[in-house]
Amino acid sequence: MCGIVGYTGYRDAYNVVVNGLKRLEYRGYDSAGIVLEGENQKFNLKKIKGKVSNLEAISEGLKNTSHIGMGHTRWATHGVPSDRNSHPHLSNNGKIALIHNGIIENYDSIKIMLKGKGYVFHSDTDTEVLANFIQYFMEEIGKSFYEAIRAALNEVYGAYAICVMHEDEPGSFVVARLSSPLAIGLGDKEYFVASDASPFVEFTKEAIYLEDGHMAHISVENGVKIHQIKDNSAVDPQIQELKLSLEQIEKGGYEHFMLKEIFEQPKSIHDTMRGRILLDEGVIKMAGIWDNLERIQKAKRIIIIACGTSWHAGLIGEYLIEEFARIPVEVEYASEFRYRNPIITSDDVVIAISQSGETADTMAAIKLAKEKGAFVYGICNVIDSSISRITDAGSYTHAGPEIGVASTKAFTAQLTVLSLIALKIGKHNGSLNNTEFMQYLYELNAIPSKVQDVLESSHDIVKQIAKDFIDATNFIYLGRGYNFPGALEGALKLKEISYIHAEGYPAAEMKHGPIALIDENMPVAIIAPKQGHYDKVVSNVQEIKARKGKVIAIVNQGDTQVASMADYVIEFPETSECFSPILSAIPLQLLSYYIAVYRGANVDQPRNLAKSVTVE
Ligand code: GLU
Repeated sequence: MCGIVGYTGYRDAYNVVVNGLKRLEYRGYDSAGIVLEGENQKFNLKKIKGKVSNLEAISEGLKNTSHIGMGHTRWATHGVPSDRNSHPHLSNNGKIALIHNGIIENYDSIKIMLKGKGYVFHSDTDTEVLANFIQYFMEEIGKSFYEAIRAALNEVYGAYAICVMHEDEPGSFVVARLSSPLAIGLGDKEYFVASDASPFVEFTKEAIYLEDGHMAHISVENGVKIHQIKDNSAVDPQIQELKLSLEQIEKGGYEHFMLKEIFEQPKSIHDTMRGRILLDEGVIKMAGIWDNLERIQKAKRIIIIACGTSWHAGLIGEYLIEEFARIPVEVEYASEFRYRNPIITSDDVVIAISQSGETADTMAAIKLAKEKGAFVYGICNVIDSSISRITDAGSYTHAGPEIGVASTKAFTAQLTVLSLIALKIGKHNGSLNNTEFMQYLYELNAIPSKVQDVLESSHDIVKQIAKDFIDATNFIYLGRGYNFPGALEGALKLKEISYIHAEGYPAAEMKHGPIALIDENMPVAIIAPKQGHYDKVVSNVQEIKARKGKVIAIVNQGDTQVASMADYVIEFPETSECFSPILSAIPLQLLSYYIAVYRGANVDQPRNLAKSVTVE
């Protein structure tokens, strides 16, 4: 959360920073700010509550005034979204400017100490404390700018990616990271820094992903010098080639990133399978699993840890792995797992799922599992993300950049990877015979074209249905078996972007409480594929209709039984029950999308939310 961008070189820094911030707005949009090195080395600073467009409106005059500067788009953790809490923050002497993604957990005690020394605070943020702490080390302890940053960072704990400038050190900035991501783009006589590579993708394909505990001094004159924060020992930079393209991070004619990403799913699922499903040879190729097969096969238990939508994918992963590989699986919220003293042994295999690969709670849970000797396997979408680097092995979902805050294509790509993993382990440990394995492999291989089919066949119908629910205040989503987590995900999508209260339940749980909510005003979306406890779900639909609930049935093409009872029908192609959540997710994503759009909500940037949750 929070996006940071910095630039030094020969271009208009304002332009690079502001355009970069727009690309990072998925990380937060509570406020935006920019600081540029102006004439006589004086800072020019503008910041304002709200989106980057608000910042543009007040900072026109900064265009073409500087070749070095930095900016921030905020997801507030400490202090309300407001002008004064916006970044960049200045130190008391006005000479140090700092932008920050993360949380300084011990800010309070440092603030008290600094106040005692006469420092004054103009915001409620933890970030401003760090800016002043650096000034303190320069003025009271006599350290250089760089050494003062290092000293301050050695005293603070929490999470940070920071970029810091000093008026008396023109033409350079210092960046540092602990737990929050920071990429440095290397151009020809120009350098970029950003929370991810999207702000500089059109300028360079070479980047360094700063590691935890590292800081870098960056200037056109001296290049990028990386050192350990702890002892200032020099670090050899690892330069990576970026695979990201500009096209991938633009809307490509769609009104919103979310709609683009929903429609990208045939391709993103296909890309996730590509090179992994070898039908002719009858194998699934996954180096991460293959290289660690023995360790994974002899696991006494698999624990899946994740947050949000990835947690829902994990629940489906539990069904898949237990069914195909016959290994017991538990699924945990990373935030609960890390704080509840869980029993983990070296016989456990932990699968950590995170789209961004930066989720703070998942990172911490991984560290805990590793400390206890478990083998940790990562499933991430962002290449070279922190989680992909700290796990023992892993598989990427090749969904491409997901920019809409509500996850769509990352979810179905996660289900694809989990299906592949479950099938592969099941085949190797003998839980699946070859005929069963091949049958599922063919089914899975056909999923991208079925996703295309459901997108085309359901789009207009869903659009129509959505119009009838723009004034809904509550929604219930039901499913059984593999489609129970699908119902949870459907409800989450609606909550996230339309702000309508929604709950997902296993269909059979209705009668243990939630059925009391059903009346003629309660919409109930019910996922009822042919394969998957169909008759039982039919009875659940009867129960809802008997209480006058409004049923939106998500059924297989050609269904007549549920369809005849439902008020609205959305069809998707038939497949094995285990893969049906991939297909049923599509119309549910579209339904949330259109309800939110018709309600006038900002679909790509829903209130209070941000992507890449790098804070606890
Ligand atoms: N803690 C900082 C603030 O509240 C940065 C927040 C973040 O990175 O999400 O301003």
